[in-house]
Amino acid sequence: MTAFKTLDDADLSGKRALVRVDLNVPMEDGKVTDTTRIDRILPTIREMSAKGAKVVLLAHFGRPKGRDDKNSLKQVVPALAHALGQPVTFVSDCIGEDVAKAVSGAKNGEVLLLENTRFHAGDEKNDPDFVKALAANGDLFVNDAFSAAHRAHASTEGLAHVLPAFAGRTMQAELEALSAGLDNPARPVMAIVGGAKVSTKLELLGNLVRKVDVLVIGGGMANTFLAARGVGVGKSLCEHDLAATAREIEEKAKAAGCEIMLPVDALVAREFKAHPGHRVVQVSEVAADEMILDAGPLSVAEVVLKLNSVKTLVWNGPFGAFELPPFDTATVTVAKAAAKRVKAGTLVAVAGGGDTVSAMNHAGVADDLTYVSTAGGAFLEWMEGKALPGVEALRKR
Ligand code: AMP
Repeated sequence: MTAFKTLDDADLSGKRALVRVDLNVPMEDGKVTDTTRIDRILPTIREMSAKGAKVVLLAHFGRPKGRDDKNSLKQVVPALAHALGQPVTFVSDCIGEDVAKAVSGAKNGEVLLLENTRFHAGDEKNDPDFVKALAANGDLFVNDAFSAAHRAHASTEGLAHVLPAFAGRTMQAELEALSAGLDNPARPVMAIVGGAKVSTKLELLGNLVRKVDVLVIGGGMANTFLAARGVGVGKSLCEHDLAATAREIEEKAKAAGCEIMLPVDALVAREFKAHPGHRVVQVSEVAADEMILDAGPLSVAEVVLKLNSVKTLVWNGPFGAFELPPFDTATVTVAKAAAKRVKAGTLVAVAGGGDTVSAMNHAGVADDLTYVSTAGGAFLEWMEGKALPGVEALRKR
């Protein structure tokens, strides 16, 4: 990777390194319930600690309006220290005298976690004075929080302009994977966009039709496209008011030479619940009181066949209501087909955003795809073709 400086370019020994990480982990009764985000930042922390840096972690937690115990990062310390296998010193602010003392008194290799950056309004405002106050306790800045990179905040963007800035290992892996997915992909490229609604993914679809060779539309979104083509979708989730928009996207795709694939058959049911009693029908045969809840076997076979002819896959959103079996079938079948080709070394497959991570976990392929991004908003903005401020600020100048 040439566009960004990485830890390979950083002189870390004895340096005070401010490291922006994502510790916005789910908690219940004061305990971390899912350590995925903690696990992802361990390589960066361990490497920097081993190279003798004073590793000073910066992160936000929740959406506090000022200081409050509920959003204190102190509660994350036990889980972080446990995962790291090393003590973590907590400092109850992220700027000021106490931080300066703790950092200057730390030994090389020591790991410190500073209090929630969002306890200060200056973080989200990217206030230059707050950036200066943060920077006062660092010799260099490492950003390992791709998931926060779509925000131009002091701790995600501002710091990169005032200190030598480097991508951490997780950020680096994410950027390399995303670049292989859309910026510089092996062609042909297929995108799968599923999920509930077209309205939340308009920009994403608009960008993808210009960039990919095949766009597979699944989930509730497909119903809107089918309805726009004049197909009766019964009681299915469908944004009828977006029919014209769906037709425009189809036109744009045609003009750009992007093939759009919609389901040709579906699993339909009368109730939105698990195992409700369902039938498989052609999309033209959905009854007025039925809902399309997953793509049918013919559609899945068509997608898998097409998938076998592409070199790159970018995926956001499930094919159906995957939380309710059997409407997970299409998502699981296509995910497994993709994983098989990734394992064989013939496909680059990048998936992410919102429910996609849990869909891939459900399919048991999260570790078998090339990359599954846990970043929600940042992943979607990247798929929309937007520049992410936290990433742009890291570019070599
Ligand atoms: P999103 O957050 O846009 O990726 O949407 C994910 C959600 O879409 C999941 O909770 C799915 O249950 C839901 N979904 C996907 N397909 C359908 C469908 N055909 N009908 C209703 N909900 C669906």
